[in-house]
Amino acid sequence: MSVDDARFQLDDFRPAYLTLSPGELRRRAEAATQSLRSCQVCPRNCRVDRLAGQTGTCQIGRHARVSSAFPHFGEEDCLRGSRGSGTIFLAGCNLRCVFCQNFDISQLVEGREYGPGKIADMMLALQAEGCHNINLVTPEHVVPQMLEALYLAVDAGLRLPIVYNTSAYDSLQSLRLLDGIVDIYMPDFKLWTEPCCQRYLGARDYAHHARAAIAEMHRQVGPLRFMPDGVAARGVLIRHLVMPGLLEESAAIFRWLADNLSPDTYVNIMAQYHPANRVGTRTSDGGPGFVEINRPVTMRELSEAHRLARQAGLWRFD
Ligand code: SF4
Repeated sequence: MSVDDARFQLDDFRPAYLTLSPGELRRRAEAATQSLRSCQVCPRNCRVDRLAGQTGTCQIGRHARVSSAFPHFGEEDCLRGSRGSGTIFLAGCNLRCVFCQNFDISQLVEGREYGPGKIADMMLALQAEGCHNINLVTPEHVVPQMLEALYLAVDAGLRLPIVYNTSAYDSLQSLRLLDGIVDIYMPDFKLWTEPCCQRYLGARDYAHHARAAIAEMHRQVGPLRFMPDGVAARGVLIRHLVMPGLLEESAAIFRWLADNLSPDTYVNIMAQYHPANRVGTRTSDGGPGFVEINRPVTMRELSEAHRLARQAGLWRFD
């Protein structure tokens, strides 16, 4: 952890959205909502009319679906602090990860549909419970709905920073609508090569869009900085899940982050991969699916991932 480095501390912090000009948050919410008419909210560009209830790859129509909302103490130390991260788990997803550990929420779309007023109430309730931030989990496909809710919540007194907790399969159009609104971007940069992105994520162009999205996030908020108590205030926090047998993917991602973002990029190198969803399930020929990733990551692979991150020039990582 580099919380004690003075360069990465902010003594004076207010959520970015409080500095917008009057009416700007409402204007952004309205512009975003109109983009649902022929949906290009994410890189899938389905062009379905979600205002009329049609759905595309993400399976979500006019309104967002919420799986759960609660103070989360399982996130990174700098997000959960002492009072938890105010997490809102959003159902549906624009990726199709074969190893997804939350596939019931992301691919089976388990959750209840809520309009903007109810989601604004959830944000305010999480603030009343003392949470340090509002943590939107998998928001790529519901950016308009989150802006609608945020506009109402801020009007009613929300004062917490927004964490945008994403797969990084985001469109630049959506991210530009969030400029000056999101304080902490937390993209999970998953894989690098097109064959791996296609096989494991169901999106050949994933890394192409993730690179553009993460560069835009970094342009907006810069490297991760903290409040004096060690809680994250603003910046980009990269997550990277180490996967079995795929260290070359990790190495390419680390090199890109150090060379194209900054060696100061903060990275959480995650160790919790385990076979889930379609990995290890029976295929039509009777064998286990995706057998090459049907095991946990070894300690040797994890320590090698850390070595590769250091070798790339990164130094702020867990
Ligand atoms: S947000 Fe959903 S409907 Fe819109 S382009 Fe993405 S996957 Fe398609």
